[in-house]
Amino acid sequence: MDGDGSGGMGSGPLKVLGSVLVVQLLLGAALLIWAAQGFPLPSFLRGGHEAPTVATAATTPAASVPRARVDAFDGPAAFALLREQVERYGSRPAGSPASRRLAERLRARMPGARFEPIPGHRGQRNIVAVLPGRRPAIVVGAHYDTEATIPGHVGANDGAAGTAAVVTLARAFSRISRAQRGDRELRFVLFDGEEEPKGSTDFYRDGMRGSRAYVARHGDSVREMILLDYIAEKQGLRFPREEGSDPTLWAELRAAARAVGVGSLFPNAVSGQILDDHTPFTEAGIPAIDLIDFDYPQRDTPQDNLDAVSERSLDATGEAVTRLLERRLQSET
Ligand SMILES: [Zn+2]
Repeated sequence: MDGDGSGGMGSGPLKVLGSVLVVQLLLGAALLIWAAQGFPLPSFLRGGHEAPTVATAATTPAASVPRARVDAFDGPAAFALLREQVERYGSRPAGSPASRRLAERLRARMPGARFEPIPGHRGQRNIVAVLPGRRPAIVVGAHYDTEATIPGHVGANDGAAGTAAVVTLARAFSRISRAQRGDRELRFVLFDGEEEPKGSTDFYRDGMRGSRAYVARHGDSVREMILLDYIAEKQGLRFPREEGSDPTLWAELRAAARAVGVGSLFPNAVSGQILDDHTPFTEAGIPAIDLIDFDYPQRDTPQDNLDAVSERSLDATGEAVTRLLERRLQSET
């Protein structure tokens, strides 16, 4: 704000006294409101895992990523698998030799996983691991292909992060004895062919090939779907609810995130609708959510690499999803 100090202030001590009274009344009212709310502390002073840090507005960097206060998701293993996809396989568009080799590796890492071909797209295949249980099932998915139209795109966040998380979740949940508990069936699906092929100008028509094929074949036995995409941004990781994502399931995700200490990743906000592998599910009437931090400066560039992601971010997201799945497994609705 700006001012030259020449404005008239009125005159006389009476007016000054009046101002003091108004200020006192305002302070008193603020105190009453604060008391009514149980004297809440500002967020930077609230408990949690981290020592409180006081940052001034001027020096606050991109929103920081909280550290989860539980350890049910194997962050180091997940990040190692993210790194491996980027370093060992490089660019890996759908159907490429690199993608085909990676698929073999991913299948071997997921308990009991098998390939499912994508009709009409030779050489492309989804990778599916099922933990049998009560149907209809819960699907947890990500895509493992990278951009075909952007030279040098290695998709550390766009592809590798979600893929690593899905594999890590599959391994963790397969170790839990579930048969007698009447848990819901869990299906971990790595989609091929999410990105549009070279030469395409229509993502809706040409992309999402693996998820479309999956829904056509299995949609009838799916209760709900959770998609992980862009989940490991190092700086400023945040997930507003993507507008196409189911509000009820999203609210459960936010509650799960708060329970494990990473609630700040999921602000009470909505972003525009995004076409992604959850879209074929929602179009089939299946409630789905897309964890996607689309506000990612390196999106669709060769800089979407290991410098732009972090283990801490991947772990924070993984812990929230783990807690959500633990709750959803036993849900009746
Ligand atoms: Zn993606």
